[in-house]
Amino acid sequence: MNACYDLHCHSTASDGTLTPVQLVARAAEAGVDVLALTDHDTTEGLLEAIAAARSAGLCLVTGVEISVTWAGQVVHIVGLGFDPGNPALQAGLAGLRRFRDWRAEEIGRRLAKSGIPGAYEGARGYSNGHLISRTHFARFLVEQGYSADMRKVFKQFLTRGKPGHVAGEWAELDQAVGWIKDAGGQAVIAHPARYGMTRTRLRRLIGEFQEAGGTALEVVSGSHSRDEVFTMARHSRDFSLCASVGSDYHGPETPWAQLGRLMPLPDNAVPIWHDWSISKTQALA
Ligand code: AMP
Ligand code: MN
Ligand code: MN
Ligand code: MN
Repeated sequence: MNACYDLHCHSTASDGTLTPVQLVARAAEAGVDVLALTDHDTTEGLLEAIAAARSAGLCLVTGVEISVTWAGQVVHIVGLGFDPGNPALQAGLAGLRRFRDWRAEEIGRRLAKSGIPGAYEGARGYSNGHLISRTHFARFLVEQGYSADMRKVFKQFLTRGKPGHVAGEWAELDQAVGWIKDAGGQAVIAHPARYGMTRTRLRRLIGEFQEAGGTALEVVSGSHSRDEVFTMARHSRDFSLCASVGSDYHGPETPWAQLGRLMPLPDNAVPIWHDWSISKTQALA
């Protein structure tokens, strides 16, 4: 049987609800053979995940999901298989977390002005000493009854034109790809069908990503429909890029996204792991 890969998920080090240890245990239960932990803008959970993976007998690939602003829009670039000790990568991620710290306070101030007090403190509570994401604000707002559920809350409060929206000032595309590559890793455009881009704009993004040295598109994502998977597989072939696979799992609260429960890659896609040697993934585990 083919190995089960899940190369995109989150822990409590960013906006997931399971600790790295719990996440690895759940992945092992779900039959995942090769897992990448890809928290937003931090590698904080990796050491714990590596240790847990060693005892659970699965391969853990180092990962991160970097926030990027490209042509005025936020896109996410996943890094896989890099050296987490790389100073340039860590300096880049630290810069993004400084922006997150400021942004979290600014979101709190804006929500306070619109009649919602205590949101910064609430979100900080949910983040439990780790970085603060909009997801933590969303949990606070739902918990306090300002919004019915996690889907509605983003639309009502946290996206462009809404009271808690603050424009992102994230990394540049070639910067993010550069950090990943300099650290020995491979860069992947996360959930490419989720950006609401026209075909022309998406292909411009993919072209610039490829020129910057990117490796793959996340062809199979927990958030892609079947049609989107086939469309993204074709884009990956057109640009001679590889294809990656990831659930974007954030925890058991979102039952529609499960670790390792993913469509197989279409036959015309070249898996990003095609030249990973077992020894490489095991060395990382
Ligand atoms: P941030 O990087 O802090 O701006 O937060 C982005 C995160 O918010 C994403 O990684 C998702 O986990 C979550 N998110 C964004 N939009 C939505 C949405 N419409 N519904 C649910 N979660 C969302
Ligand atoms: Mn997230
Ligand atoms: Mn993402
Ligand atoms: Mn993600």
